[in-house]
Amino acid sequence: MSQTVALVTGGLGGIGTEISRKLVEQGYLVVATTFNKEIEKADEWQLVQKEAGFDLLVEEADVTSFEACADMVGRIEKNVGPIEVLVNCAGITRDSFLKNMDEPMWDAVLSTNLDGVFNMTKNVLDFMLTRTHGRIINISSVNGQRGQFGQTNYSAAKAGMHGFTMALSQEVARKGITVNSISPGYIATQMVMKIDEEIRNDLVAQIPMQRMGEPAEIANVVNFLASSDAGYITGANIPVNGGLFTSF
Ligand code: NDP
Repeated sequence: MSQTVALVTGGLGGIGTEISRKLVEQGYLVVATTFNKEIEKADEWQLVQKEAGFDLLVEEADVTSFEACADMVGRIEKNVGPIEVLVNCAGITRDSFLKNMDEPMWDAVLSTNLDGVFNMTKNVLDFMLTRTHGRIINISSVNGQRGQFGQTNYSAAKAGMHGFTMALSQEVARKGITVNSISPGYIATQMVMKIDEEIRNDLVAQIPMQRMGEPAEIANVVNFLASSDAGYITGANIPVNGGLFTSF
């Protein structure tokens, strides 16, 4: 039987690597995507994963470019197989109080974190619609739910992902496609570890569980949402934040 293909954008990042590994463990054929033009770095990552027992494919595309996403999706559909699971995990931060935020900082975050979701989803969705099956999982953030000091750009983009998720889930529910988002709290990856240590300690102190999350704790939820067990869940947002923000 052929393997189910899962595409993970930002698949070489802290959370993306764990998602990719988890899906491989579950028997998916995983294509991890990177924006990194230094192919040696991608090769090195792929080798490290292989040595650890995870066979992963790597593709390159800048998610801010609709054409690059279209090309990459076309290549994967042709050479690897039908993409049944899309995980939109690529994302960046450019933190600053709005007072000091310039237009490039705003544009970079919105075009990567929000336009990127459109660029990837639109291109994959066309294929999913013809097959009347698919799972789309968007990695948003707790800061898209509650807002965060110094992150107007990031909070706006991540909140936008929720709106996108809810609207699209309604459009494609009858076509056998589910669309959900996950909102991680603070997860111990490079993105968070580059925050000043004092600020980081303050952030952890505000988390009821008094610790950051692990990338694997996000990967487990991705795996569930991708599975047939989650077949009746769509348009939902799953918070994974150690109690940092609660809502219903
Ligand atoms: P990383 O920085 O480790 O990974 C982010 C990934 O995004 C990188 O692999 C990078 O690719 C990719 N990327 C960035 N820009 C582009 C682009 N233009 N085109 C394609 N890929 C791009 O971050 P995390 O693993 O921590 O974060 C993953 C996701 O989870 C992000 O969306 C983030 O916002 C979200 N998140 C993270 C939290 C955390 O605490 N860490 C909390 C809440 C949400 P490469 O470098 O390979 O080129």
